[in-house]
Amino acid sequence: MYICQFNEGGWDTKPLRCWYSSFLSVRAASLQLAQPPYWWHLLTRTNQLMKRKRLYNLVNSEELKRRMLESDEDRTTLSFYRYHNLENPRQFRNQLFAGLDELGVCGRIYVAKEGINGQISIPTAHLNNLREYLETTFPWTEGIRFNIAIDDDGKSFYKLKIKVREKIVADGLDDATFDVTKRGQHLSAREVNELMDNPETVVIDMRNHYESEVGHFEGAICPDVETFREALPIVEEMLESKKDKPLIMYCTGGIRCEKASAYYLHKGFEKVYMIDGGIIEYARQCKEQGLPIRFRGKNFVFDERLGERISEEIISECHQCGKPCDAHKDCANDACHILFIQCDECAEKYDDCCSATCSDFLKLPEEKQSELRDQIEFNGKKFGKGRYKAARKGAGLSETSQVQEYLKSVIG
Ligand SMILES: [Zn+2]
Ligand SMILES: [Zn+2]
Repeated sequence: MYICQFNEGGWDTKPLRCWYSSFLSVRAASLQLAQPPYWWHLLTRTNQLMKRKRLYNLVNSEELKRRMLESDEDRTTLSFYRYHNLENPRQFRNQLFAGLDELGVCGRIYVAKEGINGQISIPTAHLNNLREYLETTFPWTEGIRFNIAIDDDGKSFYKLKIKVREKIVADGLDDATFDVTKRGQHLSAREVNELMDNPETVVIDMRNHYESEVGHFEGAICPDVETFREALPIVEEMLESKKDKPLIMYCTGGIRCEKASAYYLHKGFEKVYMIDGGIIEYARQCKEQGLPIRFRGKNFVFDERLGERISEEIISECHQCGKPCDAHKDCANDACHILFIQCDECAEKYDDCCSATCSDFLKLPEEKQSELRDQIEFNGKKFGKGRYKAARKGAGLSETSQVQEYLKSVIG
């Protein structure tokens, strides 16, 4: 569709811009149209997009990944969030993109009328510049906490994506129905450990099943849910009889509990606490102050690493053979792409796939794959909501796979 040239700076779209700008002026001069034709809108739109070129990353992902892995620049992965009323999220987004791009930031950031939520990778030398940039340009970010990732080489993201969304966390809550500013009390790591010693205390993991499967706090209730939205009513029901007990909630970096704690207070829970800065900050404080760590296993994270180790224990199993394992991966079959846990041996046996069906499918010629991909049922669906639903143990590992059955039925 575009006339593009690939160079060091990325996809260069200039030749097309020159070409069609002159084309447009000739057409505009020679035609007196009451209404511009449809292609006019398309070209004007493309032109607008090109003018905003610096506000989007136009280099392809593989190339960016290669550049990042080859570079020996020291980088840091961190996450941050802040609830704040933004009048014009779109404008804020564009301003932020230009500023962060300048600082060499990669990552995924969500911006909404209710604030900002991001996970990024930044050259370590620019960490202070980032804080200075944010606090001077957007004074409401003053004192914002950077949750620095542990167990990390900083190469967690390869490009910068900033998206404007309805909310910074998909919680499915109607914020108008309760007071979102009346939140639970934040606990430091020391306070968490003390309160957990009280046998009355209920600890609740507000994350999804694939997150808590590889790591969670001792004795925590881990709801079997796929989304945060789904967790809220289920947890409420589970704790119906414990409304007067101390309730400690936690998530990865604390953002989910900010809103959830307000929701549970509104629902009549009396003593609602949350771990300040989530698992990441808890682990950091424990290490810094030499406190015992009550978290077991790995902290699941939403970047290329898929997890950071907090304790040496492995609390989950390979979904295929049942051996202790806590390495998440996406199925190598793009038509499936399900997130699951797989040990090295099974990875070799099934070519990094979640099932024999997926591994057989990948061996078919490409034309055959595109012909069959919609007719075969895989454990995951690339664009479906089930993307992160982990495959259940042994799912689809039968000797004769669905692909083989299908081919037999076609060939006869
Ligand atoms: Zn295995
Ligand atoms: Zn698969």
